[in-house]
Amino acid sequence: MGLLPFKLVYHPGYDLNLGEHVFPSKKYALIREQFLRQHFADESDFDRPEAATDEDILLVHDPGWVQRLKDGTLSYVELLRLEIPYSRPMVDAFWLAAGGSIRAARNALRDRVSYNIGGGFHHAFREHGEGFCAIHDVAVAIRRLQTDGQIERAMVVDCDVHQGNGTASLFATDTTVFTISLHQLNNYPSEKPPSDIDVDLPDGVGDTEYLEKLRDALASGFAEFRPDLIMYIAGADPYREDQLGGLALTESGLKARDAMVLGSAVQRGIPVAITLAGGYAWNTADTVAIHCNTAQAALVSCF
Ligand SMILES: [Zn+2]
Repeated sequence: MGLLPFKLVYHPGYDLNLGEHVFPSKKYALIREQFLRQHFADESDFDRPEAATDEDILLVHDPGWVQRLKDGTLSYVELLRLEIPYSRPMVDAFWLAAGGSIRAARNALRDRVSYNIGGGFHHAFREHGEGFCAIHDVAVAIRRLQTDGQIERAMVVDCDVHQGNGTASLFATDTTVFTISLHQLNNYPSEKPPSDIDVDLPDGVGDTEYLEKLRDALASGFAEFRPDLIMYIAGADPYREDQLGGLALTESGLKARDAMVLGSAVQRGIPVAITLAGGYAWNTADTVAIHCNTAQAALVSCF
């Protein structure tokens, strides 16, 4: 039966197989283990997705980019921008992450909330990948559900410390998808194409200021736009101990962030699907704990 009122979407193939790399792609398996160890979930709470089909991926991405990824014929410059080593398991992991986010989006319509133990690859563009992101799983999920007539309008709430440049670019002229990004201004990506709402945070912002800005952004977003589904990109990298982030949120501040996003969605009766995105704490256990806390906030929001 399971212990949870929603599913934890997970596939062992989510691991991007990066070896020694700042991106701890083993975190997905570690999060799953932590859920089991803490008796937060049991085996039947996990939902194993299929990989996205090429047809799904092509709803968002350029056929040439997709083909070069699959064939292993990316140029040197394309590989440099991606910043992760090329391998077949890496490519498969992106197709699985997209399949997982599609599954999570559909589950959210059924269960009100859902959690993909993966995804959130918000730096992927139509014709290229960058910043560890080759395929924009969140955009693929939105396009799949729109194409199938399951939703008309979606909102992306991106709380990763890095701006959601891929998301902003992909939906720039699309009035059916509303994009919100809260991020550190002086950080990657150097070029930030405009989201519908961008909150540029100065270095070192802590819990109180962050939560005020988030509350304002959500209020403005919901005043302008009523989505059928929210895709919440719950990056763990606004954490003060993050190697690639320059904000100063505490673990409890990040819990309050999750509660605010999830609460504001549930309160309005809008389904919300969670994806994980970045997290580069000096201690990977902190990244894992922050992501697990997001699932706990999802559980609390169900009651
Ligand atoms: Zn990030």
